[in-house]
Amino acid sequence: MPWYRKLHWQIIVGLILGILYGIVAAANGWSQFTSDWIAPFGTIFISGLQLIAVPLVLGSLITGVASLSDIRKLSRIGGKTIFIYVATTAVAVTIGLLIVNIARPGDQLPPDARDRLQSQFADEASVGEQRAEEVEERGPLQLFEDIVPSNFFASASSNRNMLQVVFVSILFGIGLIQVPKENSKPLLDLFEGLTAVVIRLVDLIMLIAPIGVFALIARTITELVQGDDFGQVLGLLGALGFYSLAVVMGLIAHMSFTYALMLKLLTPLKLKTFIAGIAPVQLVAFSTSSSGATLPLTMERCEEKLGVSEEVSSFVLPLGATVNMDGTALYQAVAAVFIAQALGMDIGIWGQITIVLTAVLASIGTAAVPGAGIIMLVIILQAINVPSAGIALIFGVDRILDMMRTVTNVTGDATVACVVAATEGQLHPPDLSEEADRIRLSA
Ligand code: ASP
Repeated sequence: MPWYRKLHWQIIVGLILGILYGIVAAANGWSQFTSDWIAPFGTIFISGLQLIAVPLVLGSLITGVASLSDIRKLSRIGGKTIFIYVATTAVAVTIGLLIVNIARPGDQLPPDARDRLQSQFADEASVGEQRAEEVEERGPLQLFEDIVPSNFFASASSNRNMLQVVFVSILFGIGLIQVPKENSKPLLDLFEGLTAVVIRLVDLIMLIAPIGVFALIARTITELVQGDDFGQVLGLLGALGFYSLAVVMGLIAHMSFTYALMLKLLTPLKLKTFIAGIAPVQLVAFSTSSSGATLPLTMERCEEKLGVSEEVSSFVLPLGATVNMDGTALYQAVAAVFIAQALGMDIGIWGQITIVLTAVLASIGTAAVPGAGIIMLVIILQAINVPSAGIALIFGVDRILDMMRTVTNVTGDATVACVVAATEGQLHPPDLSEEADRIRLSA
């Protein structure tokens, strides 16, 4: 297949053209034209992906759980998955803390830049604080209360309630295992059919991915350069450069050490195969900033290109998209310490330990949608007694960092899916099967 027909190249071309267009549009003051005529294509692309997210989670998790056929297998795979998710998130937070404590980016922020940022983003910060307060007010066990809906159709009607959909699907799947075959069969067939159709729809929606990505990036750049003042954006990036660099370095370190090591030690997958398989997923995560919207593609690529069995992918990935956010947790740790440093506060060792615990929990509670991570950050700041209005300092660069942490989030989900599949004997990478065929034929 010529390179230009490969999906990830098409998306990269869309991405580069989007950046170029965004810069030209910002420099020439075309923001109205961009939001009227370009941005809608991005919205259509994201909506298309989100449209199939609920039916996909529903269909695939129900059939996934039901195909595990006995509760013991379900609890083994479930326990393993949740353990690896939490452990990798804790490692991510630790990497973030190490980097931010060694590099101390908060000390580099000039006091005048700090005052300017605080007043510029005061409004956004208070909205974020308000939303976090609502979350805070709800008591320690609220997370569990929130997972169980009293009306399934109400939860299925919003992509923000994905955790509830995940819960109901698992419950329904368990119910299916326990009823006689003649009762479960028609329902299983229905959900299997639903999953197959939705996966087909992913291919159709991905046909417009290059255009969608172009539009999303173009819009992000023109929106970032509010008031068409390029100098202002560059100044902001300069002031927050060290902070952004610390986050990005942490994310890269986590992906290239933790994930690479897990893949190498625990799976037969070649790193090259993994990267080639997952590249389009990362590009879509980067441009949509939403692991929820990326989920359909993550599932398709993991099954078709990495050889993860349907049984594992349909359980591990929908769960991961909603609860496993290593990139978000790492970012929250760096951001919390950065804000404390910039405000001249010392949070001490207990503060750091509190960050590890709260960041792991906050990332689990973060919705898989753009910009959710910064709202949960307020809860971490409150836990370590740092003024939560401090998020005003980092709002300006949050969109860019959101794109990057979402890439890490989806890469983490795919890595864990491969590891769980390998330990269950359910990972059959296409290139390894081809190799095995060749050896068998030549023997
Ligand atoms: N945008 C991220 C995601 O969907 C969540 C976050 O804001 O960190 O994975």
